[in-house]
Amino acid sequence: MTPPRLSLEEISGTGKAAVARALTQVEERADDPTTVALLDEAWLAQTAHIIGLTGPPGVGKSTLIDAMITRYRKAGRTVAVVAVDPSSRRTGGALLGDRTRFYNRAEDHNVFVRSLASRGALGGLTQLAFPSVTLLAALYDYVLVETVGVGQSEAAVSSVAQTVVLCVQPGSGDSLQFMKAGIMEIPDIAVVTKADTGRAARQALSDLAGALSLGAGHDAPIPQLAVSATANTGIDELIDALAAHHRDTEQEKRQATREAQAEAWVREQVEAHFGARGWALLTEKNRLETSRETPFSQARSALERLDLSLRD
Ligand code: GDP
Repeated sequence: MTPPRLSLEEISGTGKAAVARALTQVEERADDPTTVALLDEAWLAQTAHIIGLTGPPGVGKSTLIDAMITRYRKAGRTVAVVAVDPSSRRTGGALLGDRTRFYNRAEDHNVFVRSLASRGALGGLTQLAFPSVTLLAALYDYVLVETVGVGQSEAAVSSVAQTVVLCVQPGSGDSLQFMKAGIMEIPDIAVVTKADTGRAARQALSDLAGALSLGAGHDAPIPQLAVSATANTGIDELIDALAAHHRDTEQEKRQATREAQAEAWVREQVEAHFGARGWALLTEKNRLETSRETPFSQARSALERLDLSLRD
């Protein structure tokens, strides 16, 4: 049965339960025309600042997100969090469930929290999170995307976020590891957590400065901050640095990122169904309908066309 057509206005006017239902529809019935229509509307209405937070487990991301939510709410802004666990399956995501309970505010209608498990697929985060983040970015002022784990997830978060924050743990040698893995090219802001740990935190900050000076791919120096969510220091500076990054990113660059993220998602959709050959067929022959305004209708029409061509 086709679910009823929902508009953004109806969803935002009905509260968190409606948002949760709409997200379930997005996750489970992505191809449904009503879902595509909703996502199209959301894509064009997107107003949020989408912030990705990444770093190894235990670094303090959840604690930091909790502190950020408090700041944003004090300023009267609304916040959605999408926590992505790259390893656990939906049914086995107990760890993730515990984490989001930490910053979930059941009683606050202006804070919405969602967990997603990426089913272990490589690059799966984008495919899974992109539509959900798109919907939430049309409904809330800030969307925080938390990724658990190391490696692929760092790269993947930059395919949905506008500003990426890399969290580094004092005393861990993270900077060196990240540098080796090429991750230093990804963050827009780098943060040493647990600044209250004194010498270890100062050492981490200096390691980070060294690692970042070797990184490439950025026009301007990457802001480096030390924060302590428990001692409540550095959070305001982080909030300011995030706002500055958003404000200072030129409209043109922001648009280019948005388009690149959209194309990467469409490509993943096509490749998930028809493999690399399917994508090659579409692009070689210019068969991707670039006139389509949003990635959601574009993907749907591309999949339909490939489907039809196989049926002939
Ligand atoms: P995540 O796995 O990256 O989300 O990390 P968590 O936010 O769950 O934090 C992991 C551990 O670090 C917890 O025991 C926190 O209490 C602790 N922690 C988080 N932030 C701070 C901080 O600012 N200072 C100190 N000393 N510990 C912290």
